[in-house]
Amino acid sequence: MKSIAEIMRSAAASGIPAPAFNVPYLPMIEPVIRAVVDQDAFALVEVARLEWVKFEARGLAQVIREFQRWDKPDHVRLHLDHVPVIDEDNCRVDYLAIISEALALGYTSVMVDGSRLALEDNIAATRQVAELAHAAGAPCEAELGAVWGHEAGPLPPYEELFVSGKGFTDVDQARRFVAESSCDWLSVAIGNIHGAISGAQKDQKKVTARLNLDHLARLRDATGVPLVLHGGSGIPQDNVLAACGRGIAKINIGTDIRQPYEATLRATDSVARAQEAAYARTCAVLRDNLRVSGRRRTLVG
Ligand SMILES: [Zn+2]
Repeated sequence: MKSIAEIMRSAAASGIPAPAFNVPYLPMIEPVIRAVVDQDAFALVEVARLEWVKFEARGLAQVIREFQRWDKPDHVRLHLDHVPVIDEDNCRVDYLAIISEALALGYTSVMVDGSRLALEDNIAATRQVAELAHAAGAPCEAELGAVWGHEAGPLPPYEELFVSGKGFTDVDQARRFVAESSCDWLSVAIGNIHGAISGAQKDQKKVTARLNLDHLARLRDATGVPLVLHGGSGIPQDNVLAACGRGIAKINIGTDIRQPYEATLRATDSVARAQEAAYARTCAVLRDNLRVSGRRRTLVG
């Protein structure tokens, strides 16, 4: 069976992305996996720290226990998404303890997010985590640049962010960051933004973002590792598909499947119906948005 590291290299080389679906509610895990299997696709299921702190994913152990009930390793693997060194509320996080626990539980890849730190400190924190992960045979994802959206309060006007390139991952820094941190995958900021997670904003339609593809190609050439697109919901389809030919190997999908799950649960008070809404939306993302249905074999062999 191919390792997730090999699968991601195939994704980067082939232009067929591996979507990574966030599961802020444990009952989302079953319909997401069922959709991936039914679409004959490959995807990651992932959980971020804020999804058990601020949503209802409960914790690392609960997520992997639920995942293992439905696991199909030819179709899905379990990834630990954002464990920030400093979180969206500016608090220090014991990231090494969380990541060690995930590796011990059997998560097949992990992410450390030092993007709120100065470059040197981000390199140092990421290198520590990469060593831990590699000792467990797991790849380590890191982030450089600012993928806005998780912070409380309104986002600066999107057009201003995009045109100025403020927060975009710097090419020279990225080259140095990957070489010195030994991270395996890099989350980049090229115009993508996270869906809002706080207050009433989390139910609103996400801002339509777009990607600077030339900048992305420069990052790919400079780093030579599979790149990750966070905030994959709400970017025009042609833009996303073009990014997959230029180094993006993993696309995180959160808002797109969370909102139908929550809206259906609110409207019907039925977890089963909310699960069907998540299933339908996951199928549509795989088939219509990312066009990865039926393309599993290219990645997994
Ligand atoms: Zn993210």
